Formats: sequence, structure tokens, C-alpha cells
Amino acid sequence: MPTFSSQASSIILFGPPGAGKGTQAVKISQSTGKPQISTGDMLREAVNRGTDLGNEAKGYMESGQLVPDSIIIGLISERLKQPDASDGVLFDGFPRTIAQAEELSRIAKVSTVIMIQVPDEDIVKRIVGRRMDPETGDIFHVKFRPAPEEIVARLIQRKDDNEETVRSRLNAYHQQTKPLSEWYSGLSERSDLRIISVDGRGSIVQVSESIRRELEVS
Ligand code: ADP
Ligand code: ADP
Repeated sequence: MPTFSSQASSIILFGPPGAGKGTQAVKISQSTGKPQISTGDMLREAVNRGTDLGNEAKGYMESGQLVPDSIIIGLISERLKQPDASDGVLFDGFPRTIAQAEELSRIAKVSTVIMIQVPDEDIVKRIVGRRMDPETGDIFHVKFRPAPEEIVARLIQRKDDNEETVRSRLNAYHQQTKPLSEWYSGLSERSDLRIISVDGRGSIVQVSESIRRELEVS
């Protein structure tokens, strides 16, 4: 059995690109007190700073492929050493491959996997309309979550949020990430891991409510 520095348990937010993981993570992080760890945000920060790791990851991200497991596992292992991770964390966009999940099971205890289900045709609309506030990190959508008028001018669109790259990202999701849902379902049958499956097609508020209700039942 692996030993952990702390038995505090973590939560995974799982779903396709654009499912609403980042949007929901903010609320779940507030209600559980667990810090949000988004590998996508960490990678984008490394790309912007021009670090070696960022330069290595950049091409994969821009073409919609997954960044190699060794890079991601290195990032996560370092992040989990920070003091704020000692009571468990909320993983957003990690793990994305079975190799990442296997490594995670060696270094942290996961109590809950929240799976947000959204069909591919909705994903494209969500991703193409996504806009980010570079000052606060807030996530908006031109139609589904419009930003206040006074900040619209400073919003940015992620370089990989275009229709062509979305197709590659969805492909990577179906090939490499989706099999993880079976992997975690199997694990939940032989452990106390809890799987919460949520219909992600409702409004942002409806999805938050479904997650909140399910988390309360624990
Ligand atoms: P992910 O982190 O899974 O990639 P985001 O949270 O960034 O997804 O959401 C992707 C886009 O979809 C954003 O523009 C966000 O505002 C929007 N969005 C999130 N949840 C919903 C929802 N339930 N209905 C409609 N749009 C949503
Ligand atoms: P989204 O959920 O909207 O696809 P993310 O911000 O989570 O966006 O990820 C953006 C990109 O960063 C991914 O397309 C991939 O290239 C890379 N990435 C993020 N997390 C991982 C991960 N756990 N494993 C491999 N690549 C990752």
C-alpha cells in the first residue's frame, strides 16, 4: 500500500475539454476549501513565462495533443509538496491518461471523482465562445456567460480555442482520457472511491446545484 504524507483526500473533476470543469472548480474549491489545481493553467503559465517546460509543452497544446505524461507528473508532484495541498486538493483537468491516474494513486488519496457529461456537439460551441479575463482568471462565454461591459475589451481568447484544435482535443479526449472513466468506475467497485456523474448540459447554475447536492450526500 502506498503511504501518503497526509490521509486528507482529494477530488477529481473529470470531463471533456470545455465541459465546465474550470467554471465549476471555482465554486467547489470555495465550498470544500480545497485548492484548485489545473494542469492547463499551470502549463499556460509556464508557456507565458517561457520556461523550458513551457517551451516543451507549447507545441502539444497548440495542436490539441496531450502533453507527455512525464511532464505532467513532474508538475503535479512538485505542486503537491506545497503546504496548501496538505488537506487534499481539487484536480481540474488531471489525470487525463491511465498512466497519470496510476501515478496519482501512488502519491495522493482520492475520495471522489466528479464526472461532467457533455456531448461533443455542445463542446465545440462552448470552446469557440470561451473568453478569459487575464487579470482575474475568470472564465466567460460570449453567449452563455457574457462578461460585464466594462471588462469586455480586456478579455482574451485562448490560442487553442478554435474549431480545428477543438477537434484534435476531442479526439485526444476520446482516445486517451475517456477510458479513465471505466478505470475509475472499476476502482470504485473495489474501494471507497465515490463517483459522482453529473449531466453538464444544463445552465452553469443548474450544474453547480447538481454537484452541490451530490457532494452533500456523502
Ligand atoms: P473546461 O475547464 O472543462 O475546459 P470551462 O469551465 O472553461 O471548461 O467552460 C468552457 C466554456 O463553456 C466557457 O466559456 C464557460 O463559460 C462555458 N460554460 C461552462 N459551463 C457551462 C454551462 N453549464 N452551460 C453553458 N456554458 C458553459
Ligand atoms: P480544456 O479542458 O479546455 O481542454 P486545459 O486548460 O485543461 O483545457 O488544457 C489545455 C491543454 O493543456 C490540453 O489540450 C493539453 O495539451 C494540455 N494539458 C492540460 N492538462 C493536461 C494533462 N493532465 N495531461 C496532458 N496534457 C494536459
